[in-house]
Amino acid sequence: MPAGSAALPRLRILATGGTIAGAQVDGTRGYKAAAFSTDALLAAVPQVSALAHLEVEAVAAIGSQDMDDATWLRLAARAQAALDDPTLAGLVITHGTDTMEETAFFLNLVLRSDKPVVLVGAMRPATAISADGPMNLYNAVAVAACPEMRRRGVLVVANDEIHFAREVAKTNTTQVGTFRATHRGLAGLVNSGRFHLYAPPTRRHTAQSVFSVAGLTALPRVDIVYAHAGMDRALIDAAVRAGARGLVLAGVGDGNLGAAALHAAADAARQGLAVVRSSRTGGGVVERNIEIDDDALGFIAADELNPQKARVLLQLGLTQTADRAALQEFFFAY
Ligand code: GLU
Repeated sequence: MPAGSAALPRLRILATGGTIAGAQVDGTRGYKAAAFSTDALLAAVPQVSALAHLEVEAVAAIGSQDMDDATWLRLAARAQAALDDPTLAGLVITHGTDTMEETAFFLNLVLRSDKPVVLVGAMRPATAISADGPMNLYNAVAVAACPEMRRRGVLVVANDEIHFAREVAKTNTTQVGTFRATHRGLAGLVNSGRFHLYAPPTRRHTAQSVFSVAGLTALPRVDIVYAHAGMDRALIDAAVRAGARGLVLAGVGDGNLGAAALHAAADAARQGLAVVRSSRTGGGVVERNIEIDDDALGFIAADELNPQKARVLLQLGLTQTADRAALQEFFFAY
């Protein structure tokens, strides 16, 4: 241990897999996610040892397209156990980028702590030309080690940017600048471990959240149905038959649906499903009662959340209540 290192903060890395740990077969295309251990990733960034004492715990080794409710519950339990350790300053979670926004938002709603929790991934596998993982990991450790990052909710660090879990979305299939925050902007910038911090989030998160998954072994089924021109009612009816307790509609425009699909959604709401209108556009607010009479049909408006984040909030909301007005309030508060 180098002289003076006792003053360094202690951080835990929870590893879940993803491209940051991925290996390519021929160096330019195709790869297998989660091929490398976190220790191997850290060996590529020896500079992190000057930022923090790091310990590693493997929670999963998956591409994040395989992230599911059971793994979320296990990850949340391991994250909360770490955060409850008073000697630990913060957490870094390695994760694939495909569903990182959903995992980040889920943890943002269920973890009870003011400590920094930072999700980090990479768009290029560890063996790629100009891999982005090592710098992303260095910056993520720097952010998690920084006391100023407390009380900002769960964060995502990539491409020299710090994102709020609620705001961040993956917007490009392959580019390193895939993460964007279309509504309320960035949490800050991080350049080789140096920060520029912007305003903290205004919506509720982590320590102020009412949601808890402690003791839960499953989450309510919520399906997403993507709207389009010429849509009929088949997929909405299929979600009802599959036993969904909630339905998120990735509506056209301002969360709209054509007449056939709208009738199916109204039928679903009458049968007791919580039906949330979101938008497939990737930006903007879905408000109540604009082109669709939400009051009459019993729908919930997603406010600013994209369909995949609306699904996370509805799953957690349904663990507390089936009351439509109470569920709507969650979408205005979180
Ligand atoms: N499908 C992979 C994943 O999400 C690739 C995306 C990535 O990690 O960048 O784990």
